[in-house]
Amino acid sequence: MDPGRLVVVSNRLPIVIRRAGSSQWQISPGSGGLVTAMGPVLKHRGGLWLGWLGIPREDCPSERRLNSLLTTGTSRTGYSLRYVHLRREEIEKYYYGFSNEILWPLFHDLFSHCNFDPCYWETYQLVNKKFAEHVKNHTQKGDYLWVHDYQLILVARELRRLGLDRQIGFFLHIPFPPLDIFLKLPWRFQILEALLKYDLIGFQTARDRRNFIGCVRALLGYRVSGRGQVNTITVDDRQVLAGSFPISIDYREFADFAKTQEVADQAWIIHANLPRRQIILGVDRLDYTKGIPQRLLAFENALARYPEMRRKVTLLQVVVPSRQGVEEYEKLRHEIERLVGEINGRYTEVGWTPVHYIFRSLPRKELVAYYRTCEIALITPLKDGMNLVAKEYCASSTEGNGVLILSEFAGAAAQFYPHALLVNPYDLEGVADAIYQAFTMGQEERQSRMRRLQATIQKNDIVNWVNSFLRAGISKDLNDFPQMEFFVPKQ
Ligand code: UDP
Repeated sequence: MDPGRLVVVSNRLPIVIRRAGSSQWQISPGSGGLVTAMGPVLKHRGGLWLGWLGIPREDCPSERRLNSLLTTGTSRTGYSLRYVHLRREEIEKYYYGFSNEILWPLFHDLFSHCNFDPCYWETYQLVNKKFAEHVKNHTQKGDYLWVHDYQLILVARELRRLGLDRQIGFFLHIPFPPLDIFLKLPWRFQILEALLKYDLIGFQTARDRRNFIGCVRALLGYRVSGRGQVNTITVDDRQVLAGSFPISIDYREFADFAKTQEVADQAWIIHANLPRRQIILGVDRLDYTKGIPQRLLAFENALARYPEMRRKVTLLQVVVPSRQGVEEYEKLRHEIERLVGEINGRYTEVGWTPVHYIFRSLPRKELVAYYRTCEIALITPLKDGMNLVAKEYCASSTEGNGVLILSEFAGAAAQFYPHALLVNPYDLEGVADAIYQAFTMGQEERQSRMRRLQATIQKNDIVNWVNSFLRAGISKDLNDFPQMEFFVPKQ
């Protein structure tokens, strides 16, 4: 019997196409948490990934050119790719509008950033319907459909309307807010009912799952049973599962890559250029949820209150451009750059600049070299679904000397307590104290904490994440899906 394929549906495909000359196009791998997490899984198991190309239909090359680009993409990724076209206006209202001006800030508890423009809802529904139609046309009986993230909450509802009664799973990569915040959403009933059209809804943490269950109970009154990782919600004659499955990384891949000579050489160059000091690393996409201005202020507070750290620490803040052209993000960038300028203006001395600021996406070798060599990671989002950078940093700490300072409000905090230094990102003095604690921490304590963090991630790696989701959803794991010929089992 055909075991079926794993079909991933997400807003963006894991590739980027861009114009490289007047009639030339290029294809390259995409970035971000979902690609980092799902890429290795599908690469080993084959399957299909369906999503948007990332550019408006109006700017796309011809269908023939697109198909040939995607054939190249498939040969590089090791799995099939299918695209959904979105027009410029759809992108404005579905993606920038409903997804990023409503669901993103609300679900991150940052209600004041929401713009509840009613015209976004209509387009959000239409685009989700479009995705559902593509899913129906490109999949077959036996495939397991796994829809990802807040842009596509309505896909199962639309698939059910199209008469599809296949098993469908959904994973929410961002947090789910508590009832009093969720209540503010004008479409709260539609969103909750739509989530319940999936067979399994996965959340990053037990807290997110509890928040969701709280909303279901309070707003819809459905019966909820079960304890532990998975709850069962009885919706008329259906049973819907809601579980917590903390997403992870390919631990081995990061750990092995960090040990390579090329990364070691790069790491050496970094430290040779910043000698006799501890480097504190921050790596974030440009986003107001990441708490970058608050972090800069906390670093400044540490320099002011602990003068012995001056000349002996450097904050290396990498900001990866994101949502370019959106005014709010441009303002955030200016605020960050103003603060970097202010701190450097106040504290720089000959031979020492307190903050090194990088505003671009880094090649993987450089990123992992920073992970490997920086003595402290300062990861302080105001709220974050998981935060994969925290896990990547630990996996890449070859010498085991790194100290992780992590926000209590990152999903990863639940797994990393008590071996990371947990902080409240709004508490500038508390973060400054944690920086000082990390700075003065002895070798033995650093290594003992880091080895435990590494063991936790290794035990709960990306394959484990997929398997626990699939087992809960369809009583299968990755071994039940067809294996690619080039798949080499890991030790
Ligand atoms: N990342 C990247 N290029 C960079 C810096 C980071 O591709 O220059 C990746 C990083 O390896 C991580 C992801 O971006 O896998 C960020 O994921 P995270 O969960 O930390 O945050 P998100 O951006 O998904 O909110």
